Amino acid sequence: MQQSSQTPKTPSVAQLGQVLTGEVIGPEDSGYDEARAVFYGIDRKPAAIVRPTDADEVAYVVSIARDTGIELAVRSGGHSIAGHSVTDGGLVLDLSAMKEMRIDDEKRTVWAQTGLTAGELTGALGRHGLAVGFGDTGSVGIGGLTLGGGAGFLSRKFGLTIDSLLAAELVTADGKVTEVDSENHPDLFWAIRGGGGNFGVATRFLFRLQEVDEILGGMLILPATADNISSFVELAASAPEELTTIANVMKAPPMPFLPEDLVGRPVLFSILVYAGEVETGAEVVAPFRGLDTPIVDMVEPGIYAGIYEAGEEEQAPPFTFAVRNLFADDIDKSDGDAILEALETSTAPMAVTQIRVMGGAVARMPDDATAYGHRSRPIMINVASAYADPTERTTHEAWVDTLAKTLGRGGEEAYVNFLGDVAEARVRQAYPGGTWDRLREVKRRYDPGNLFRLNQNIPPAGA
Ligand SMILES: Cc1cc2nc3c(=O)[nH]c(=O)nc-3n(C[C@H](O)[C@H](O)[C@H](O)COP(=O)(O)OP(=O)(O)OC[C@H]3O[C@@H](n4cnc5c(N)ncnc54)[C@H](O)[C@@H]3O)c2cc1C
Repeated sequence: MQQSSQTPKTPSVAQLGQVLTGEVIGPEDSGYDEARAVFYGIDRKPAAIVRPTDADEVAYVVSIARDTGIELAVRSGGHSIAGHSVTDGGLVLDLSAMKEMRIDDEKRTVWAQTGLTAGELTGALGRHGLAVGFGDTGSVGIGGLTLGGGAGFLSRKFGLTIDSLLAAELVTADGKVTEVDSENHPDLFWAIRGGGGNFGVATRFLFRLQEVDEILGGMLILPATADNISSFVELAASAPEELTTIANVMKAPPMPFLPEDLVGRPVLFSILVYAGEVETGAEVVAPFRGLDTPIVDMVEPGIYAGIYEAGEEEQAPPFTFAVRNLFADDIDKSDGDAILEALETSTAPMAVTQIRVMGGAVARMPDDATAYGHRSRPIMINVASAYADPTERTTHEAWVDTLAKTLGRGGEEAYVNFLGDVAEARVRQAYPGGTWDRLREVKRRYDPGNLFRLNQNIPPAGA
């Protein structure tokens, strides 16, 4: 939107600084480059980065963006694969100063502000022997992760992150601070459970907590053969719901505990979490260990909150990634062969097929219970290929595309949180069945002007 003589002008950095108690950082400030940096190193130069300290300040920033038409980027943990939490020339509403949490041990709930990362909240809850399931990486923000769905190490036992969401505080496009739950604005509450940041800025979430203390979990690395890949998936799908697995087929990267002669060999690099009795967990994990001689076996008893402590990266590897997310109903031996053949032909410094067996509590609700519409799909897959030279883009896009088509049997559904910078047609594939139209209708009601558009965008109905 262009600024006309009637459109109010965006306040300057100094003017914003006078109104807000939170930090306002402009291009002239020394902390500017650090403040605009996001996980994937996307280089954009906002007019200002604003760090509100409460929902009212968030509402003020939202109103400025609405009234002036300046592009608004909303940032929780800054891990958007598409770079949606930073803008060129617009305002970044950075929630990182809002990290308050109120844990209620008796009710087993927490009100958590959305500047928290998955790791920060998991660590704090762990001190109470409690947990919410987030994703596989602690530095991801609870804002983006939750609003897209949230799949992680407790998914089969307790469902997606949104399945633990009891309520949210939301600043909508009209600048109002609204609490939404299953009784207040149920349409909005339905939409924010999977529909991303399209409907407002979530300032706080109320999560139901689970008692999760000691678990059996960790890394299990096996030789990658077609048999091992398909058998692993079969075992994971038929295992008790207490067990959630994330398995990566890739060439072994150099790691301190890995024999040097194995680096560069195809491995099935998995993380297993059994959230139940450790002794029973050992029985459940035994068949995985028995698939082959493990190259590394670090599956051991530990505290769930420790799950993010090892291997956290401050910044993504210095590559661009071609990525495809897809769903599958099974992974048979011929799929295992296809994955390994593709890995052999790959010229990428890093190529990976990540297999997440879903089911369990995720599948207990119908597909239309929330805006995450893939509950009945038992396997989620990410195929990724890294490259440093932009001229190689076509090669890597073709590589991920071919393998994704084989594994997905041509189906094109995708999980919104793993989409990169894609066109509307692809965003639509994240919302199958009637979900897309329903979301567009909610968007029309709450954000008819598409103020919240720097995201995997759902245009308002009729737009
Ligand atoms: C290394 C890595 C590992 C990952 N692992 C998992 C995983 O295991 N499981 C999984 O489900 N996903 C995973 N993801 C995907 C992740 O959930 C999404 O990238 C998510 O959007 C990141 O959230 P964020 O708050 O860090 O990102 P941001 O970049 O801050 O935000 C992402 C999007 O959400 C919007 N948004 C963020 N906060 C708010 C808010 N409070 N209100 C309104 N809109 C908001 C932003 O505007 C933007 O469009 C992973 C991503 C990375 C990079």
